[in-house]
Amino acid sequence: MNILLTGGAGYIGSHACVVLLEAGHDVIVVDDFSNSSPEALVRIEGIAGKPFAHYRVHLADRPALRAVFEAHPVDAVMHFAGFKAVGESVEKPLLYYWNNVTGTTVLLETMADFGVRNIVFSSSATVYGDTDRVPTDELCPAAPTNPYGRSKWMIELMLQDLFRSDPSWHMAILRYFNPVGAHESGLIGEDPNGIPNNLVPYIAQVAVGKREWLRVFGNDYPTRDGTGIRDYIHVMDLVEGHLAALDKLAAGPGFDVYNLGTGKGTSVLEMVAAFESASARKIPYRILPRRPGDVAVSTADPTRAQRELHWQARRDIHDMSRDTWRWQMQNPDGYGRNG
Ligand code: UDP
Repeated sequence: MNILLTGGAGYIGSHACVVLLEAGHDVIVVDDFSNSSPEALVRIEGIAGKPFAHYRVHLADRPALRAVFEAHPVDAVMHFAGFKAVGESVEKPLLYYWNNVTGTTVLLETMADFGVRNIVFSSSATVYGDTDRVPTDELCPAAPTNPYGRSKWMIELMLQDLFRSDPSWHMAILRYFNPVGAHESGLIGEDPNGIPNNLVPYIAQVAVGKREWLRVFGNDYPTRDGTGIRDYIHVMDLVEGHLAALDKLAAGPGFDVYNLGTGKGTSVLEMVAAFESASARKIPYRILPRRPGDVAVSTADPTRAQRELHWQARRDIHDMSRDTWRWQMQNPDGYGRNG
């Protein structure tokens, strides 16, 4: 199939690109490189051994996006493009709504114009907000607590309304828990801009000597060691879930929502220990107060994806740590875009 990937140079998109090419699909990448590097595309081509089309286009640039659809037959879209920093979304809500929601609106209009009605959308477990329903299943009501989460939820609502108006669409909404890890080649991985917000990229930068110590945000949560628990999922498992979702789209029209997680929770200190063992480096840390907005525990109930997509995460936190470390060691400055 011809699959158009928005945000195909980003962290998840780049790994999806590799598995799609390896599965024999043709890929067209659309990315504005606002939070990614063209170097990722060079690396993808090296891993997959197969060239693919790519364009520097912002989704809200309607004429440029239309030109891509005119140049290529598109069977399905995987929509990864979007801003994703929670803190920044609180500071700049309109930027997030414009980029994520407006960008998606133009994408969907363009797809409809060209008769493309297959979409896999990257949503997030953040749409659940601060829920007591842990592990969380897809029926848990959405209650996002920040503009980033609300932008994802708005897009989900928009897709739902679009499906109601035209049930010939094939839609899969994938709610990611905490993606970490990297391709086993160590050639592509997560390349955060500036100081990492997320735990695992921060730990990796401490291990490689770029940062002195990890800030552990709170050890007074009601968890086994007092630190926050999350459902970390290896990015390769995650993108394999997208391949499974693509098969589901082919089965017929529908609007379906799936959690992509392992169902297993790992605390901050357990992740530190796993990374120390994978890297054979000490990760110094200090306990700081809780980070505002953080929840104690977030884990997925992934049974729906197991049942309907016949997909299950296979990699554990040791695989995640090992592969993150390989990427970090081989690329201490990521793709080099931070100078
Ligand atoms: N965390 C931490 N130090 C950091 C970054 C994160 O202690 O520098 C903790 C955070 O409080 C949470 C967990 O690690 O309990 C995962 O945080 P992350 O930002 O990676 O994911 P999210 O909070 O979005 O689930």
